[in-house]
This record gives sequence, C-alpha cells and structure tokens, in this order.
Amino acid sequence: MAYHVIDEAKRCLNCKNPKCRDGCPVGTPINTFIQMLLEGKIKDAGELIFENNPLSVICSLVCYHEKQCEGHCILNRKGSPVHISSIENYISSYYLDYMKENFPKPTKSKIAIIGSGPAGITIAIILANRGYDITIFEGNEKIGGVLTYGIPAFRLPKNILDKYRKILHNMHIKIRPNTIVGSGGLLMDDLFRDGYKAIFVGTGVWKPNSLKIKGESLGHVHFAINYLKNPDAFDLGDSLAIIGAGNVAMDVARTAIRKNINRVTIFSRRGEDDLTASKHEFEYAVIEGVKFQYHKTPVEITDDGVIFADTVDDETEGGGVKIIEGSEKLFEADSVIVAVSQGPRNYIASTTTGLDVSKKGLLITDNTGHTTKPGIFASGDVVTGAKTVVEAVNLSKQVADAIEKYVMSLE
Ligand code: FAD
Repeated sequence: MAYHVIDEAKRCLNCKNPKCRDGCPVGTPINTFIQMLLEGKIKDAGELIFENNPLSVICSLVCYHEKQCEGHCILNRKGSPVHISSIENYISSYYLDYMKENFPKPTKSKIAIIGSGPAGITIAIILANRGYDITIFEGNEKIGGVLTYGIPAFRLPKNILDKYRKILHNMHIKIRPNTIVGSGGLLMDDLFRDGYKAIFVGTGVWKPNSLKIKGESLGHVHFAINYLKNPDAFDLGDSLAIIGAGNVAMDVARTAIRKNINRVTIFSRRGEDDLTASKHEFEYAVIEGVKFQYHKTPVEITDDGVIFADTVDDETEGGGVKIIEGSEKLFEADSVIVAVSQGPRNYIASTTTGLDVSKKGLLITDNTGHTTKPGIFASGDVVTGAKTVVEAVNLSKQVADAIEKYVMSLE
C-alpha cells in the first residue's frame, strides 16, 4: 500500500466540525472511524462504515476523493489531506472478510430488485438486513452493473464483487442472472402477480448516446460502454480515436493502452481546463501515454478515421462551443470509440402502464424514490442520469426506507 494507513490515521486532527464528512455525499463519519481504528476497534469501525454505506470498500477505490472527503479535509488547505480513502479501504476490506455469515432467514414480505448495480445492491442489503425476502433480477451474468461491466479491473479489482456475491448469498438474497425484466419474458405485472409487495428499479443507463453524424455505423466504430463490457472482444488495430473526454473516455483510453494499442488519442470539444474527466483520471491517462487534442469536434467518420472541425468556446451559448468553418481535417485512425455519455434503455417503462419517464427517458420519482406507479420505486442512474456510485448509494438508502414504509402500510 502506497500510504501507511496508521501514519495517515494519526495525521487526522479529529476536527469538531469535520469538513471531510460534509464533503462526502453519503455523510461517512470519517473522523469517528479513524479514531476507532487508532483505539484498536477496527471491527467496530468496519461495522459503522458498512451500516452507513454497504459499498464503502468500492467507494474507497472509485469515488472522486479529491473533490469529496479528501478535497474538504482541513489539512488540504495548507498541505496534503489525510489519505482518507486508503484508511477506509483498509478498514472496509478487513470488515468484508470478517462479516458474519449466519443471517436469519427472511420473515417479511417479498421485494423484487431489478438491476444489481450499486443502487440495487444497496437496497438489497439494507432490506434483507431488516428481514425482507429479496430477489434480484439481473440482465447480465454477473452482479455489479457498471462495477463489473464498466469500471476496468485496474481501478476496481473484480474479486471484490465476488465478495459481495457471497454476502448477498449469506443474507438469503436470491439472484436471477441473465434475466431482463420488461423485454418479454417477465413483465412488472408478473412480479406483482407472484406476490412481490414492492418492486425497486435500479437499471442504470446502458443506451450509449450517439453523435448523430455520418459514418457512425461503420465497422470500425464502437460505443464506449460496449467496449468496456468486454474489451477482448474488440479488434481496434494500431491507432484509436476516442471522441469525448469524460471519465468513461479515460477508462476506454487506459484500457486500450493496456491492450497494446500504440496510438490512443482523446478528442475534446473544449480546452484542457474544461475536461469533464476528474483531474486524477486525466493525469493517469497522460502519464500512461494517452494523447489529447483539444477544441476538436467530429463532423464525419470515414473508413480512414474521423474528420474533425476546430472549435472555440462560445460563452454566449451557455458555455458551448462554436465550429470554425473551413477548419475540417481528417485524423487517421484504425478505429473510433464514441464516449459521449449514456441514457436509459426503455424496456421497463415501455412495457409498464403508469410509469412515467422524462424527455430523456429517465424514471420520474419524488425525492424518496416513489415512481408514478404505486409499489414501484427507483433510484440510481436510471433516475438521476449518469452520476456516481456514492450518489446511487446515498439516494438508495432513502429509497429503502420509503419501500419499507410502503410495504408496512399494506399490512
Ligand atoms: P448500474 O451500475 O448501471 O447497474 C444497473 C444494473 O441493472 C446493471 O447490472 C444492468 O445489467 C441491470 N439492468 C438494466 N436493465 C435491466 C432489466 N430490464 N432487467 C434486469 N436487469 C437490468 N462512478 C464513480 O463513483 N466512480 C467511478 O470511477 C466511476 N467510473 C465509471 C466508469 C464507467 C465506464 C461508467 C459507465 C460509469 C462510471 N461511474 C463511476 C458511474 C457509476 O458507475 C454509476 O453512477 C453507478 O454504477 C450507477 O449505479 P446503478 O445501480 O444506478 O446502475
């Protein structure tokens, strides 16, 4: 481990008004768990963190700490912040291995969870802990959603998801893998028919946004989330152009570099200061050999590469960019990956009456996850659009309470 965790823990000032906690979207009691660790109460610290955030070990690896807990640490003002993520990772990893295995069998109502990403897993663990009889329906073979099929293993080792699979099993949570709800086989009404008292939808955003330009359907063009799902299935040649410069683009680029693609270039419509990717992800990409071209927007994809036009910032247009006419130029590339975010697929909304969606297809809910159809709840990316793991966890905690309240009202 790059940081010696105990030394880092000793640097914590145990502030009366801890800013680190304010910076954490799920309000992790950071100074409390650090003091518990220093007092030798690592199991209690692990339990405290897990109760607050069942995905803490994952958040310790993939959260954008520089903007959240560590960015808010008071020591960050004059020097370097306490490396909170390493301390949380150490305690949470320890606790996952130590967690009890003998959970009591469920005694309460059946609840269905559709999707096993961060939102679904959070709700499943919270409600199973309270005695509910949980079944997860997952379209993929493995649980985890983006954690398994998006974030690359060099950032999030996949054996962590195996540990969660075991925890869910120990909690008597049933899983139906390779089962898409709403696409024909099983519809939402079938689940109500079979005795589920509430259904939670945490299906994320898995429809890639397209550029809507000529050439996007050519054989050497791919979408980022399709690539990240199984990079070995793709033959990208020697040079790759990536369109889009958010965190997903960084994951694509860093994966491609690891797959020995010689020339990997990310193209951004904006300048270096306006990248949507986090600073750390950008810095890693640079150091690993990814090249960047700024102020370029694609106008057409050809068999030989991408034709880009130059852009300038256009603050009058709400922070957009303006194309410089006549600046179009071909950038040669063997393959192209489009990484311009994702939206929701509409399997469930299109086959369930009374379930309203926004213009973007996101499920409409109130702030505790009630959709427009009684008994159906939702959270995570399918409600908020593409966000983060910790935000999915935080919203889902509140939704779990709302589901329980609803189910109790039926009794
Ligand atoms: P998802 O993780 O998308 O899970 C949804 C699950 O539902 C999937 O398993 C899917 O197969 C399943 N499903 C969908 N439809 C159906 C259906 N009809 N029936 C059954 N199952 C269905 N966030 C961070 O905080 N840090 C990061 O470093 C980070 N990196 C990212 C990298 C990539 C490449 C991507 C795409 C996102 C990243 N994010 C990151 C964002 C984060 O992963 C998401 O915000 C988070 O996973 C959302 O959780 P979710 O449970 O709502 O959805």
